[in-house]
Amino acid sequence: TKYVYFFGEGQVEGAGDMKNLLGGKGANLAEMLSIGLPVPAGFTLTTEVCTAFYDNNRHYPEELSGQVKEALGKVEAQMGKKFGDPKNPLLVSVRSGARASMPGMMDTVLNLGLNDETVQGIIDQSGDPRFAYDSYRRFIQMYSNVVLEMDGDVLEHILEKKKEEKGVELDTELNAADLKMLVEQFKKKVQEVVGQAFPEDPEEQLWGAIGAVFGSWMNPRAITYRKLNDIPAEWGTAVNVQSMVYGNMGDDCATGVAFTRDPSTGENYFYGEYLVNAQGEDVVAGIRTPQPINKAKYKEGDLPAMEDVLPECYQQLLEVRSILEKHYRDMQDIEFTIEKGKLYMLQTRNGKRTAKAATHIAAEMVKEGLISKKEAVLRIEPEQLDQLLHPSLDPAADKDVIAKGLPASPGAASGMVVFNADEAEEQARLKKRVILVRVETSPEDIHGMHAAQGILTARGGMTSHAAVVARGMGKCCVAGCGDVKIDYEKQQFTTKGGVVVKRGDMITLDGSAGEVIYGDVPKVQPELSGDFAEVMTWADEFRRLKVRTNADTPHDSKVAREFGAEGIGLCRTEHMFFEGDRIQAVREMILAEDLTGREKALAKILPMQKSDFLGIFREMKGLPVTIRLLDPPLHEFLPQTDDDVAELASACGVKFSDVKAHVEHLHEFNPMLGHRGCRLAISYPEVYDMQVRAIMEAACELVKNEGFDIVPEIMIPLVAHVNELKILRENAVAVAEEVIKEFGVEVEYLIGTMIELPRAALMADKVAEQADFFSFGTNDLTQTTYGLSRDDSGHFLPDYVERGVFRRDPFVYLDRAGVGQLVKMGKEKGRATRPDLKVGICGEHGGEPSSVIFCHEIGLDYVSCSPYRVPIARLAAAHAAL
Ligand code: ADP
Ligand code: MG
Ligand code: MG
Repeated sequence: TKYVYFFGEGQVEGAGDMKNLLGGKGANLAEMLSIGLPVPAGFTLTTEVCTAFYDNNRHYPEELSGQVKEALGKVEAQMGKKFGDPKNPLLVSVRSGARASMPGMMDTVLNLGLNDETVQGIIDQSGDPRFAYDSYRRFIQMYSNVVLEMDGDVLEHILEKKKEEKGVELDTELNAADLKMLVEQFKKKVQEVVGQAFPEDPEEQLWGAIGAVFGSWMNPRAITYRKLNDIPAEWGTAVNVQSMVYGNMGDDCATGVAFTRDPSTGENYFYGEYLVNAQGEDVVAGIRTPQPINKAKYKEGDLPAMEDVLPECYQQLLEVRSILEKHYRDMQDIEFTIEKGKLYMLQTRNGKRTAKAATHIAAEMVKEGLISKKEAVLRIEPEQLDQLLHPSLDPAADKDVIAKGLPASPGAASGMVVFNADEAEEQARLKKRVILVRVETSPEDIHGMHAAQGILTARGGMTSHAAVVARGMGKCCVAGCGDVKIDYEKQQFTTKGGVVVKRGDMITLDGSAGEVIYGDVPKVQPELSGDFAEVMTWADEFRRLKVRTNADTPHDSKVAREFGAEGIGLCRTEHMFFEGDRIQAVREMILAEDLTGREKALAKILPMQKSDFLGIFREMKGLPVTIRLLDPPLHEFLPQTDDDVAELASACGVKFSDVKAHVEHLHEFNPMLGHRGCRLAISYPEVYDMQVRAIMEAACELVKNEGFDIVPEIMIPLVAHVNELKILRENAVAVAEEVIKEFGVEVEYLIGTMIELPRAALMADKVAEQADFFSFGTNDLTQTTYGLSRDDSGHFLPDYVERGVFRRDPFVYLDRAGVGQLVKMGKEKGRATRPDLKVGICGEHGGEPSSVIFCHEIGLDYVSCSPYRVPIARLAAAHAAL
């Protein structure tokens, strides 16, 4: 097997489309070389090595070392240097690179190959001892941290002390002698802490670093990231070994990161940061304040731009930017280094971006003729739209801005201040909104960032860890807020203006403006026009699947229609039972001794339900509306506490003990499998009769008086046996016909059922004899197929996902293999009986992209989801069709 792929000028074994094998980084390094961009030579150990390594008890395949040796020989030949040669040594970086980019997850070692002999060679070759020792001390820091697993702070502390001693602030101010001494101190410390000497043998260093990269695939941070991003462990990572270029050789050297367009707004302007005389991740790590690449968005206080400081390099970089965009036809996120005025490319990948930037870039690239509408639609991740659909600060609201930082990730959020990730997670579990405040974040904080509404950091730029991760998560983030001084000990921060904010205080972040505001500021809903609307119309052109919404009120219906809903797939009538003082009438109905009593109470409810339906029908303007008749068990409507029981008793003029007895009588051990849904109507048909009457009266009235065109869809829940449906259908038809006669109008109506019990799916051909439509209630169908309580499984489902029993939570992602099979079979059997049967799903899955794609694949007519997820479902449906 070929395990190692060489890349260098004139000879490139890999290509951009080989990401599965070479990882994203390796594939793109090869690709950049083949389109003529300057990339230092190197080679990639494939992801298959990683898989083999873990399959084989952490041993490499036998052929590997020979192949590495051969590739290293080619690098040496191309660079005219030799690895480990004391006179003219080749130094390399060892870099991880998975298929999907995992920012900050894997560690990189630079300047590998240095030891007490080769450092002399570097000095002789460069004539610059300061540079040589700077590289050496960096190497020891990185290697001891990444490979020897030493706490990075230990050496950092020695460095800090050295700077203090010398009375300087920046590491660039240390001279060759200082750095040389640091190297010695570092090595001593390593010996002390690790209990073995720092490895001098370059060969040993190389394999140590390679092993550490493969090893890091299974470190907890990487595992967390994969879990959050749904990346399978089997993918493995590749390792890139690449000849070093030096950004730390003086003032005509630099290192930087850039985006070919603004990743926050999508604006077509070259956006990036760099540092003179620096190496590797200095920019991202916030060691010094980075400088902007160009002046287009110059603000007061910004440091000199590359455009002015290194104008020729800036021109080279502009050229590369345009070549990359034309070639990749997408916004790129690049890393580069300048060595003595010459630019080298070290990485490119499709840049992560906010939803706002994604839609803007997609729309603009279509206009630039760079991509087609189809591609534009496919460029936007459905899930990401969530960000656009979220609030921003109400411009009219008063706000007390207490600090300003960088607008690192847009949107607005409020929450109580917490200072560490664990607490953020803890509070979020208690349903508290929190803002995570850190000096800076690292991969260890990811779980807390995930739990928080927003993130505030005191240090770090627009490309810092916090900024990149927050944008990826779609969370608002204010980064690099130097105005705040954080005191972890006291659990508080102090602003430049002297405001002290304590743990638990409420603050608001505006990630679009970079503002930190005291208190909870009101927010407004986003405007869904411009690029968003444009791309969504394109999406609608491509999709087949219809998208409806779950809505119980005229207001929700209106929101959903603005989001593009094409009807209501699920209107839950029981929600209406809780409105205002209606619950009183509902309770009277439940407590009634006999039919007459129930009918009396139902008569009070009828006009209320009717007015709800009038509102919803009006709002939906003739679009289809599926109304589900009463579903939950009756005791859900009854008072829980003795106080409430007493109140109800006196209101109905009944004895306390009678009410109490009735409530106890209705108690069920397993209510979700109990007396609910159609089972209630088998016992008490008058309940559904009233609801059907309310629906039909509303429809007839609008048809007759307001010229509406309405075909109500009446849905009977929890059917397991066709006879349930047969009886209830007959009842419903009788009531509907009676109402139609009373009004003297022609109104069509449909009667269908929810398929949410496995038996109904298994018997769908029979059930379809009595149904005009099916709607798969996949929440309950998941619960009943798995025999897994929706309400209780939250406690242990995470264990299942953690231990890999389930790959994902089946209540969030439709389980295609099991539950999905029932849906598919139910649809097919139903259509066999009634070819015109309308089939859709309602429930949370209807707004989850991968589930929507499944619904498209098995040929459903529509999905239905909550109003805010409608655009997500529309886009996912378009993706499914493309
Ligand atoms: P990450 O995946 O965390 O971005 P990288 O492998 O890209 O890690 O390395 C981080 C940084 O190290 C790069 O952006 C680059 O600045 C520097 N670097 C990596 N390899 C080299 C090299 N061969 N020469 C110079 N700098 C390098
Ligand atoms: Mg990194
Ligand atoms: Mg990188």
